[in-house]
Amino acid sequence: ARRRPNLTIETHAHVLRLELKGNRCTGITYRQNGREITVNALQDVILCAGAIQSPQILELSGIGRPDVLGKVGIAVKHRLDGVGENYIDHFATRLNWKLKNAITLNQMARGWRLGMAVFEYFTQRTGILTLGTGLVHGFVKSQAQMPTPDVQYFVVHASYANAAERILDKHPGMTIGVSQLRPKSKGSIHIQSADPQVMPAIRPNFLSVEEDRQSLIEGMKIARRIMQRPAMQAFVELETGPGIDVQTDEQWLEFAQRNGQTIYHPIATCRMGEDADAVVDSSLRVRGMTGLRVVDASVIPSMVSGNIQGAVMAVAERGADLILEAASLH
Ligand SMILES: Cc1cc2nc3c(=O)[nH]c(=O)nc-3n(C[C@H](O)[C@H](O)[C@H](O)COP(=O)(O)OP(=O)(O)OC[C@H]3O[C@@H](n4cnc5c(N)ncnc54)[C@H](O)[C@@H]3O)c2cc1C
Repeated sequence: ARRRPNLTIETHAHVLRLELKGNRCTGITYRQNGREITVNALQDVILCAGAIQSPQILELSGIGRPDVLGKVGIAVKHRLDGVGENYIDHFATRLNWKLKNAITLNQMARGWRLGMAVFEYFTQRTGILTLGTGLVHGFVKSQAQMPTPDVQYFVVHASYANAAERILDKHPGMTIGVSQLRPKSKGSIHIQSADPQVMPAIRPNFLSVEEDRQSLIEGMKIARRIMQRPAMQAFVELETGPGIDVQTDEQWLEFAQRNGQTIYHPIATCRMGEDADAVVDSSLRVRGMTGLRVVDASVIPSMVSGNIQGAVMAVAERGADLILEAASLH
């Protein structure tokens, strides 16, 4: 696509805002090498800065909630209360076990074994350096009567001594990441400054809905039960996280709140729909505006049952079809 005469790619270009004339989006202004450059759009501007920064750019341009824009001194050019609202994400906890009778990534990723792995990678292009982190995934129903699974497992043959700093345990270990597939808890992502360099405030409100708490708690309990089966016990020395002392729902929840984090699947901050709070319509056009579409994860209205990249690609493919269709009518 780079060779197409009608395509120009600008890199290291930070979009500051959309240019609006009344309710029409006429172009964008970006900063590159310290210079501000405005480009005009002949037809549409397609905003695809992702679920965190697409709402940020809309708000910086005066499109959004009057209370949010007012707080940072940006004049409302087009009121759309749904911008930055409805933020949904996958929240996961990590359960860890110390293993026996097994060599895991914890050992393979250090010392002479790491040296061998590097050699294997460069000579044969095989080995641990060619693997993703989660090699086994599982989908389970936290309650038998559910029509479809509500919990996803992400099984890793490694365990962290310090997850934040990505430091592995020295002993053999494994992890099961547990996340609820379709969380009902919703948060928001909004600008906290009129300065485009200041990151927006991300307020996830994870586990604010009881159904989400129960799903995750049951999902963690089932993961423990799987590891307590004889086939797995042959390899288990000790449950290190949360530890077998954690037994009641309150303790599981406390562990989840302390230990859990996003797995980076933000969606719905420019939610698609036909209702008053939707940001884009079913053709991905910003409601009430012309010449402006959003095509990225932010338009996905509710969580998909798994990692979201496939759904994002589907949105992109559909968005491309819609844009072509509209262009052919001109
Ligand atoms: C660490 C991590 C791991 C993940 N792992 C998985 C996984 O294993 N499986 C899976 O399915 N999904 C995974 N995801 C999620 C997946 O990557 C995202 O859902 C997907 O990339 C979203 O696509 P997008 O086009 O909406 O946004 P993005 O891919 O985020 O693209 C947005 C682009 O806009 C640019 N941008 C933003 N603001 C501006 C601005 N002001 N000016 C100029 N450019 C701007 C950004 O630099 C970026 O290139 C992961 C995400 C992360 C962060």
